[in-house]
Amino acid sequence: MRLVLLGAPGSGKGTQAARLRAALGVPHISTGDLLRAAVAAGTPLGQKAKAVMDAGHLVSDDIVLGMLEQRLAQPDARAGFILDGYPRNLAQVQALDALLARMRQPLDAVIKLRVPSAVIIARTELRHRAEGRADDDPATVRKRLAVYAQQTAPVAEHYTRAGTLRLVDGVGTLDEVFARIMAALGEAPAAAAAR
Ligand code: AMP
Repeated sequence: MRLVLLGAPGSGKGTQAARLRAALGVPHISTGDLLRAAVAAGTPLGQKAKAVMDAGHLVSDDIVLGMLEQRLAQPDARAGFILDGYPRNLAQVQALDALLARMRQPLDAVIKLRVPSAVIIARTELRHRAEGRADDDPATVRKRLAVYAQQTAPVAEHYTRAGTLRLVDGVGTLDEVFARIMAALGEAPAAAAAR
């Protein structure tokens, strides 16, 4: 299964991707996690990305694509993957299409978790207190939501036009949202999107 998970920051993509990984037996590849690992390791790339991430902006397409390409080349990704946090803009959609075409590994599904902004703001405040992520402070979350609306919303529109997007209500318990995603993966895209 080759799956892309879309949704605003704090929509629950990471949490659900971890569960999907266990259920589907394919790795969870989060570009945010790859970048945070590079920052923690203090690599030149991580040092470059840190300030951009802390400000809530997008890291350059070239850097992220290079990291993703390396990760997808690992043997465990041959069975498939759950991509979380990529693509984030239309240029990344094109880059992913080209990369997967070259690898002869087309996407099977794109899921978008729908969560209202008020819920996102409450969730990221909790995460900020629990995990201390610098980019979860309320002002930076507002910035990240604006970047999402401007640059990432068109990604969902692209996959809607392509007929591959399945919309899932992301409000509810972890179990409820997980069950909805699994149901959407087993359903025809048009039926799920119409809900
Ligand atoms: P996330 O954990 O997905 O919310 O990502 C945290 C931060 O990492 C984002 O706010 C961006 O600064 C950066 N980032 C993650 N994925 C990407 C991407 N696909 N393109 C550009 N920047 C990204």
